[in-house]
Amino acid sequence: MVKETIRVYARVKPLGRRQQAGSYSVDNEEPLPSLEITVPRDLGDGFINNKRESYKFKFQKIFDQEAKQDVIFDSIAKPVAECVLAGYNGTIFAYGQTGSGKTFTVTGGAERYSDRGIIPRTLSYIFDQLQKDSSKVYTTHVSYLEIYNECGYDLLDPRHEASRMEDLPKVTIMEDSDQNIHLKNLSLQQATNEEEALNLLFLGDTNRMIAETPMNQASSRSHCIFTIHISSKEPGSATIRRSKLHLVDLAGSERVAKTGIGGQLLTEAKYINLSLHYLEQVIIALAEKNRSHIPYRNSMMTSVLRDSLGGNCMTTMIAMLAMDKRNIGESISTCRFAQRVALIKNEAVLNEEIDPRLMIVQLKKEIQDLKDELALVTGKQRTSELSQEELLQLDELIETFLKDNDPDSSLDVGADMRKIKYSFVHMKQIINHPMTSGNKLLSQDISEEKNSNEELEKLKGLLQQRDNEINILVTMLKKEKKKARDALSQFNASSAGSTALEQSPSMSLEENQSPSKCFSLKEAKVLSSSIPRLPFLSRATGGEMSLGCQEAFEVFKRDHADSITIEDNKQLLKQRFDEAKCLGEKLNEVRNKINHLKGKVIQRQIQRAAQAVSNPSEELTFDPVEENLRMQIEEEKKSYKTVYSRFKGLKVEIEHLQLLMEKVKMKLQKDFEIWWAEEAKKFQQEKSEMVTSPNTVTVYPHFTRSSQHLSPISFSDTNRDSPNEDPAVKKNSVTFGNPTLKTRTPPPSSSTSIPLTGDSQADADILAFIKARQNILQKKGLGNK
Ligand code: ADP
Ligand code: MG
Repeated sequence: MVKETIRVYARVKPLGRRQQAGSYSVDNEEPLPSLEITVPRDLGDGFINNKRESYKFKFQKIFDQEAKQDVIFDSIAKPVAECVLAGYNGTIFAYGQTGSGKTFTVTGGAERYSDRGIIPRTLSYIFDQLQKDSSKVYTTHVSYLEIYNECGYDLLDPRHEASRMEDLPKVTIMEDSDQNIHLKNLSLQQATNEEEALNLLFLGDTNRMIAETPMNQASSRSHCIFTIHISSKEPGSATIRRSKLHLVDLAGSERVAKTGIGGQLLTEAKYINLSLHYLEQVIIALAEKNRSHIPYRNSMMTSVLRDSLGGNCMTTMIAMLAMDKRNIGESISTCRFAQRVALIKNEAVLNEEIDPRLMIVQLKKEIQDLKDELALVTGKQRTSELSQEELLQLDELIETFLKDNDPDSSLDVGADMRKIKYSFVHMKQIINHPMTSGNKLLSQDISEEKNSNEELEKLKGLLQQRDNEINILVTMLKKEKKKARDALSQFNASSAGSTALEQSPSMSLEENQSPSKCFSLKEAKVLSSSIPRLPFLSRATGGEMSLGCQEAFEVFKRDHADSITIEDNKQLLKQRFDEAKCLGEKLNEVRNKINHLKGKVIQRQIQRAAQAVSNPSEELTFDPVEENLRMQIEEEKKSYKTVYSRFKGLKVEIEHLQLLMEKVKMKLQKDFEIWWAEEAKKFQQEKSEMVTSPNTVTVYPHFTRSSQHLSPISFSDTNRDSPNEDPAVKKNSVTFGNPTLKTRTPPPSSSTSIPLTGDSQADADILAFIKARQNILQKKGLGNK
């Protein structure tokens, strides 16, 4: 880290032929060189305080009028360029009024080669040095930024041929989270040698010149920053050094003449260029001790040069002075500014960073070297993975170790990090997942009990679920049977005694025995996909709706009062669709008709126009045919409008109907869910009652007709208002323990009461299921728990 104040030099511009020299003296011999300016008392113009005559300013060095460009470079720029080559940031900026020689010093004069300024000389020097140094790999880029009126412009953009400044790409400032400044849109052009770099400088200067018009004396009001970016790296090293050298030609620092305004206002307004005022504020803030806030952000220029002022940079300023009488005042201002700048301390640090790609390469090599060394010491070639054999051996070792009850037993896998790591991972697995790790050594006893308990709970839940399901289905089945019987008696009453017909009801009864015979699985699936899933049931049954539940829903749906509404609506919807289709066709028809008539009108007009050409004497008069056609078009249009408005009305109705149906479907589904849950609960209660007295006669759950919607019985289209319906049912009376219900003592094989239907097929199904369940339980050693 290099900590030093900004170096400040002064350069006095040669006097013009007609210029009157002001009085000043240069002393470069003192411990610190000084410039003394003497102002005669009678000097009228300017703002010099007449009470003072002589001003003395100290500089690093003062270059008087005869100083040549090469001397300026050697003394001022070369030391900075050296620092930049070493990896530090550097800045040289020229400050002074317009015409004081800033551009001449920074860029150079156009007439003679010897008038080359700091930029071309620095480029030449840097590339020379880079060529000489073969110990490092260097990369160089340049950028050229012009700041005018707080706007940045890229002077090096090769895509743009600028004729005005606005044509140049606009550069904006971005600040990252670390408060680093980034210039968006400023191109970094690579320059591999001096020639390329000089070409770029030339391109930028040309752009700068072209962009300037007599009306817009931009050069005196704009700042130009030419930056050389250097990155260097020693071959094989992962460290990259990056440094920047800003060469800055500032805007003219002239102040407005005294106009009578005073105080703060005058101070603020005295610069032609506001950003120079902000530069001064930054300089004042930096020169003050204990100032925590430096107003860098006030202008683009101070933001860009933030590091150069009070930051990580070796900074040098050249105060440009014009010492003719008229400009003495401005020169004194420049010197005062320079004195303040000289107080600023900068801390330049070596800008080194690690190239991650190179770091990886280096680390990989190091790993390989270490592996080789290890192989040499152990005499074994080591791969990153353990072989299958080694793994098996390790598993055995760990098993023996875990089984060993001796408290002093130890696990020795040798000095192999891979094996040690594997052992730890393996043991962790055994502790955390005793079942899946394939080794039940440690926790076998604990987990076995835990598992069997879990299994038991699961099975119990499943059993419960299935029991409920069977019961509800059985009850429904009975209802179906009853319905069939009713229908049969009705049928028998109407067609008395036909033997052939007597058989058919028994057939239909057969068919109605099991709901699974009425509804195929496929049908149930279609149904369940045609309606939204039953969220409650899916939850209750743990995911998929069981087949039994699906079937129950099918029957429930069929008998539900709302199914009529759905059916009615479906019919209505179909009607409306057909109607809409008709209207659509009609609309098309009318449209075609109109188009046809329009075509006819045009044809007619062409015909008449042709006639008029061949027979110019015939005047184009009123054409009744065309008029007729037009009237027809009008008529058709009217009818189109009428049909269309009806069509629109239908569309609204259809949409409404569709919504309605959706709603009814949802309600039906919800009703089913409630009903299903209630049935399950009822059965549950019954079952617990029966468990207390094992020989109780089982009464199958029967439905209370508390609500028509919830009742699954006798709401099909056909028997809704059937006079043969059970009067008890009709009166909404409670039919629990209905005498028509079959009762049965439980079969001896089962200690639980089993709901049987009295139907051989269905009963066989239920018994088979119960038997299977018992088998499972017995296998698990849980008996009839
Ligand atoms: P600024 O950029 O500060 O406005 P310029 O660099 O354009 O001033 O200088 C104004 C004029 O003075 C130019 O014609 C330039 O060639 C001339 N000039 C400035 N300094 C010198 C110098 N040291 N030797 C010769 N001519 C100079
Ligand atoms: Mg200039």
